[in-house]
Amino acid sequence: MSTIEKLPNSISELKTSAEVSTESRGCRFCNHPIENLVADLGLSPLCQSQIEHDKLNHPEVFYPLRAFVCDKCLLVQVHEHVAGEEIFSHYAYFSSFSDSWLQHCKDYSEMIIERLHLNCESFVVEVASNDGYMLQNFVEKNVPCLGIEPATNVAEVARKKNIDVMNRFFGVQTAQDAVKEYGKADLVMANNVLAHVPDLNDFVGGLHTILSDTGTLTVEFPHLKNLMELNQFDTIYQEHYCYFSVLTLEKVFKHHGMQIYDVEKIPTHGGSLRIYVKQQINSDLEVRDSVSKIITEEKDAGLGDVNYYGRLQDAANSVKYQLLEFLIRAKRDGKTVCGYGAPGKGNTLLNFCGIREDLLPFTVDRNTFKQGSFLVGSRIPVYAPEAIEQLQPDYVLILPWNLKDEICEQLSYVKNWGAKLVVPIPELTVMESK
Ligand SMILES: [Zn+2]
Repeated sequence: MSTIEKLPNSISELKTSAEVSTESRGCRFCNHPIENLVADLGLSPLCQSQIEHDKLNHPEVFYPLRAFVCDKCLLVQVHEHVAGEEIFSHYAYFSSFSDSWLQHCKDYSEMIIERLHLNCESFVVEVASNDGYMLQNFVEKNVPCLGIEPATNVAEVARKKNIDVMNRFFGVQTAQDAVKEYGKADLVMANNVLAHVPDLNDFVGGLHTILSDTGTLTVEFPHLKNLMELNQFDTIYQEHYCYFSVLTLEKVFKHHGMQIYDVEKIPTHGGSLRIYVKQQINSDLEVRDSVSKIITEEKDAGLGDVNYYGRLQDAANSVKYQLLEFLIRAKRDGKTVCGYGAPGKGNTLLNFCGIREDLLPFTVDRNTFKQGSFLVGSRIPVYAPEAIEQLQPDYVLILPWNLKDEICEQLSYVKNWGAKLVVPIPELTVMESK
């Protein structure tokens, strides 16, 4: 049979490359075969890396970037193309470059020290402790703590702040070794790391191992409900393996002998949740109404129905068309647009939209490790923030939209030459600077 005979009657019936892809894998949590596509974001390089000047003539590897949802446990996930060790052993994300993030960590540490009555006799563990931005608050209050961090460069920065760090990937084995050396923890923090974990069961098993019988584990993660409702499709990238609802996480923790006992909504990363988890055998801590309340909200939004998730594709396409229309119009009108920030999500967005230097000649970032490099895929150069004042573009496109209030304040000076600020998500918005 020739190819022509296989063609359907209309273009809308054509199958996409994601639909005809024959590869099927098991769910990261329950191992059920994964087939339901949430969004196909085309081909993308690893988002949380950058291209150095001397590598500009080298090729780059692009991987299919597709999110799926498991129809059994409803875990949203992407396929793994590159091992976690390769990605996270030298990680450029220094958390300390965001003021609002540092404040968030300080507020959290004060709250949790009081809530759990932590003192110099307690023991606190942070998994993925990064450059020590969180644990420094515990060191200041004389609460003994340990960081576990796989990236050597950021672990070194933490050690310089007098923070004890195990420079290893976290899982059951690391947890057992830590318990042998330090004992079990009264507080375990796993903030914004669960999405980055390729072996979810080994990681959560490790949390169960290191948490004391009476201890509390807090986990912060961007809420899947916001990703779906606010078109945050650009938070999908190769290094984010999973996207969580409480509906699914409740099952994951139960499987590993733990239970979620409280949930709070927090504003970080475009709307996150902080869950409080205890060992199942601990009956001293009551499960609060907040848990069933958030699950009801998730179900009411549609997250309990596997068919709900496919709508993200239309939302992503809509953002793409709006942004391209805006950039092309600006170009035709002789206006200049630059970027602000070089976050992983910016790379997903720019590569999905096919935006390159002709439409966005440069971006800037406060992170000195990113300055002087080029964005993956798009090869857009990254400069220090001072470049905006010097080159005076007509528009500044804010890529880390989750920090837009903080960035709008930092950029208040652009009004001096009449420039406007642009936020691409949930829909394109052009704003006067404050
Ligand atoms: Zn599953």
